[in-house]
Amino acid sequence: MIKRLLGLLAGVVLVGTFASPIAQAQDYPNDTINIVVPFSAGGPTDTVTRLVAESMSKTLGQQIIVENVGGAGGTLGAARVAKAEPDGYTLLLYHIGMATTATLYRKLPYDPKTAFAPVGLVTEVPMVMIARKDFPPNNLQELVTYVKENKDTVTYANAGVGAASHLCGMLFMQAIETPLTTVPYKGTGPALTDLLGGQVDFMCDQTTNTTGQIKAGEVKAYGVFADQRVEALPDLPTIKEGGLEGLSFGIWHGLYAPAGTPDEVVNKLSEALKVALADPNVIKRFAELGTEPVPADQATPEALKAKVASEIDRWKPVIETAGEYAD
Ligand code: ASP
Repeated sequence: MIKRLLGLLAGVVLVGTFASPIAQAQDYPNDTINIVVPFSAGGPTDTVTRLVAESMSKTLGQQIIVENVGGAGGTLGAARVAKAEPDGYTLLLYHIGMATTATLYRKLPYDPKTAFAPVGLVTEVPMVMIARKDFPPNNLQELVTYVKENKDTVTYANAGVGAASHLCGMLFMQAIETPLTTVPYKGTGPALTDLLGGQVDFMCDQTTNTTGQIKAGEVKAYGVFADQRVEALPDLPTIKEGGLEGLSFGIWHGLYAPAGTPDEVVNKLSEALKVALADPNVIKRFAELGTEPVPADQATPEALKAKVASEIDRWKPVIETAGEYAD
């Protein structure tokens, strides 16, 4: 009898353990969702995330809180989400750094290919080279000459090894064969504040953080790292037009949950992401910031998974040639 009772109790415990994730997935979401931005508030990843989160929150019927966990090129925030409960309540919005850090870091505390359940791609944003308003060079050729001549004193701001600004700076320095002093921040939000204040000389950043300042003439802009000019900044030449070849790349952003998150939850998130990317307000704000949402078929777990894998392969040889690593 006692044995039977114990057996029944064990059954109850087992049923409880197995049933709850399914029930949770069906009810999802019934609580506040956190999206970790692995950079400071006020920067481009933060801006993109807040716009998308506002719309997703309406679709999902729950509040979405954006949490900024900056540092180490985005890897601190990514590590936080990799370790989080895989229940759909802690998410990550990270950019191209998800792929470049796989090679840049000798000891990453997670595997970018397996530690996350990809939800979908969000947007691909062009990068621009900007400088403080009173920085002497007035165009890209002058910039190249000036930084070569003043390589011991000029300062380049970035958001740490693995950030888009780091990648862009690394490619630029490689192209002009001149290593420069870099000043790392927890995000390009605070880096831009210092650049506007004249504490650092120049940096590369997404249009989502720079379009307003370029248009207002608060910073000097030297070119866009894209094949085409950006609609929001029609007067700004491409870097190629300015005379530097082979420096065209977009900074893609993706939304992730921790690995092990139920498919049903991931799919609900992906559907809400698609709604956000078709939201006229999101499209309008993105356009004003020099970008656009990805097409709906890219806002899927499969598309983001494939992108992470292909981008790791794309950047590995480039980073190995540059020989820049972090621990
Ligand atoms: N865009 C920045 C970078 O990767 C990071 C940020 O969003 O602050 O350099």
